Amino acid sequence: MAKAAILEQVGGLTIGEVELADPAPHEVLIDTKACGLCHSDLHFIDGAYPHPLPAIPGHEAAGVIRAVGSEVKTVKPGDHVVTCLSAFCGHCEFCVTGRMALCMGADTRRPQTAAPRIMRADGSAPVAQMLNLSSFCEQMLIHEHACVAIDKDMPLDRAAVIGCAVTTGAGAIFNACSVVPGEAVAVVGCGGVGLAAINAAKITGAGKVIAIDPIPEKRALAETLGATHTVDAMADDAVEQVMKISGGGVHHAIEAVGRQASADLAVKILRRGGTATILGMMPLDCKVGLGAMDLLSGKKLQGAIMGMNHFPVDLPRLVDFYLRGLLDLDTIIAERIPLEKINEGFEKMKQGTSARSVVVFD
Ligand SMILES: [Zn+2]
Ligand SMILES: [Zn+2]
Repeated sequence: MAKAAILEQVGGLTIGEVELADPAPHEVLIDTKACGLCHSDLHFIDGAYPHPLPAIPGHEAAGVIRAVGSEVKTVKPGDHVVTCLSAFCGHCEFCVTGRMALCMGADTRRPQTAAPRIMRADGSAPVAQMLNLSSFCEQMLIHEHACVAIDKDMPLDRAAVIGCAVTTGAGAIFNACSVVPGEAVAVVGCGGVGLAAINAAKITGAGKVIAIDPIPEKRALAETLGATHTVDAMADDAVEQVMKISGGGVHHAIEAVGRQASADLAVKILRRGGTATILGMMPLDCKVGLGAMDLLSGKKLQGAIMGMNHFPVDLPRLVDFYLRGLLDLDTIIAERIPLEKINEGFEKMKQGTSARSVVVFD
C-alpha cells in the first residue's frame, strides 16, 4: 500500500492509497524520496490537457530502487535514481538517430491486456499512470528506461528537480541550441525551467543572459542564477530594451512559460539568423509563427520537448555540475512540503511569485 495524491476529478488532488503491482521483467519499483511540482501537472489538474481519471500526476522525482524485474540491467536495488518522463524504447528511428526525447516509448508501458501497474488500495479498479511515472506517490513502478542512477552524494530533493525542469531548461541551452560562448541568450519566463536555462546559459559562457519576467522577485532570482540583465515582460518597450542590451537582438530566445504572448515575444527579440526555442506547454489551439521578413533574415523557430534530452547521459552530468558548485539548484527550490500540502503548493504556483516547490517523503 502506498500513499498518493490522486486526481479523481479535474480541479484538485485527493490524498488516498493505492496498490502497486510487482515489477515485470523490465520494470523497477522505487521508494519515492522527493518530487517537484511542475507547471505541466497543473495543466492536467486544471483539465487544460485531458487525461483518463483517476490518475496520479507527478513526474519530477528522485528516489531509491527497492526492487527490480528479472531482466533489468541498468539499475539495482539501493541505487539512487532520478526519473524522467522521456521513457525511451531504444530501437525506434528516434532512439537510434540520437533523438531519444522524441521516442514515443511504446513498449515502455504495459500492454492493454496486462494487469495495470497501479490499482486502488481495495483492488477494485485501476488508477492511470501519468507520463509513465505517477510520482506523487510513496512508490513508483516504472520501466527501467524511465530512470537513471546518480551519485549517492547528491541530495535527493535537489536531484528531483533535475528530472523535468532542469533537464528541460538546461537541455534547451546545451542540446537544442548548442549555445556558443559569447552568444546572447534571452529567457522569457523565470519559473523552474527558465531559471535552469539561465543558469545553463551562464555555464556555457553566454555573453549576455537576459531574463524576461513580469515579477520582480523572479527577476531577482534570475540575477542570482546568472542573468546579466533583466527586463520586465510587461513593459511597453520590452522588445526595444532587449534589442538595446543585445545590440540588435539575441542569438537564442528561450520561451519557458507556455503562453502565446511570450512565444511571440521570443520571436520578436531575435537577431538575424537567431533561433527561438519554445519549451512551454501552450494552450492546444495556440500557434507561433515567423513572418516573411523573419524568414528572409534566416530566423528559426523550434520546439525542444524536455530539452531534447539524452537523459541517461545528461542527468548524471547535471548532478556532477551541482556537486561541483556550477549548477545552482538551491536557489531554484523555494520550499519543501509534505504530500498533504500539495494543493497549496499548486495554488502558490498559480500566483507565480516563487520558484519550485518540492514534495518530500520521509
Ligand atoms: Zn514537468
Ligand atoms: Zn525509441
